[in-house]
Amino acid sequence: MQLLNTLIARAVPFIPRSIVQRLSRRYIAGATIEETARRTRQLNAQGFCVTLDVLGEGISTMREAQATAEEYMHLLETIRTQGLRADISVKPSALGLLLDVAECEGLLDQLLASAKAGGSSVCIDMEDASCTQLEIDLFTRLRSRHDNVSIALQAYLQRSYRDIEPLVGLGFPLRICKGIYLEDRQHLVADAWNRRAAINPHFLKHVARCFETDTFVAIATHDESLIDQIIELIRRNGIDTARFELQMLLGVCEPLRDRLLRMGFTVRVYVPYGADWYAYSVRRLKENPRIAGHVARALLGF
Ligand SMILES: Cc1cc2nc3c(=O)[nH]c(=O)nc-3n(C[C@H](O)[C@H](O)[C@H](O)COP(=O)(O)OP(=O)(O)OC[C@H]3O[C@@H](n4cnc5c(N)ncnc54)[C@H](O)[C@@H]3O)c2cc1C
Repeated sequence: MQLLNTLIARAVPFIPRSIVQRLSRRYIAGATIEETARRTRQLNAQGFCVTLDVLGEGISTMREAQATAEEYMHLLETIRTQGLRADISVKPSALGLLLDVAECEGLLDQLLASAKAGGSSVCIDMEDASCTQLEIDLFTRLRSRHDNVSIALQAYLQRSYRDIEPLVGLGFPLRICKGIYLEDRQHLVADAWNRRAAINPHFLKHVARCFETDTFVAIATHDESLIDQIIELIRRNGIDTARFELQMLLGVCEPLRDRLLRMGFTVRVYVPYGADWYAYSVRRLKENPRIAGHVARALLGF
């Protein structure tokens, strides 16, 4: 069955859009702000915080970057007027980082000011290694003007050991994740290129570094054994629950997510939405062959 699922996962791009859309409801809130606000209200009512992401990474003009920023502005307005317990996550490349750094920074300035007015904040997602330095520099400049911005660091990158130091030194809030991009082996911590579990000790060290330096940390992973080790670290060191939160993607490992909430931790769900739902859904379905099994059943009726 595993082999069949893997084969189906590879065939996902050829599956009819209507079926991908039905399956992707689990991973994305929808195509519009209204659907997203509804989903956010449901999650809030269950006790979860939310971070909202407008889908659309591959832009080629600053006009597209401005359109993405406008969508985020509407989203922040919705968060404010509806009193949602939500912040936003932003990929700087979707705001033109690789086209015009100064204009991208200007757009982020506007988003941060608007988020602040609504009592919300912005997390800068970390993208592939070609963006790492640009995004850290961008974040550092933004942080000098805004206190409601944070950034993600990826435990699979060797350089994160260097990158984290000035950030924790200044008490900047961080999100630690494993990292999702296919990177050149030379950038990665040992064995990470062929063994995902090899990233875990590094992830744990970065989280521990945040605790040592009193830095607020968002712990973004679905890896249960890693989460158990982090909980053990928290208990051993008597870390206050206000100093961290756990984060997971919408639709992924929900029983674990619910258990962590019941344990009294703050859990934030990363909720993507937008017109670009198709490309995102295909990526998620390819990542998870088990979901591809549902595709097979939907297609073949078994
Ligand atoms: C809130 C949040 C924010 C993130 N931000 C960034 C970012 O800014 N930059 C970046 O590079 N990456 C980001 N990521 C992605 C992250 O780096 C990982 O690639 C991704 O979360 C999978 O790694 P994992 O830690 O869950 O561990 P893994 O070892 O990859 O997975 C552990 C287990 O979780 C389950 N699982 C994991 N992912 C999925 C999935 N998509 N569908 C179904 N099951 C799954 C599987 O059961 C798997 O065995 C983010 C992830 C989260 C949750």
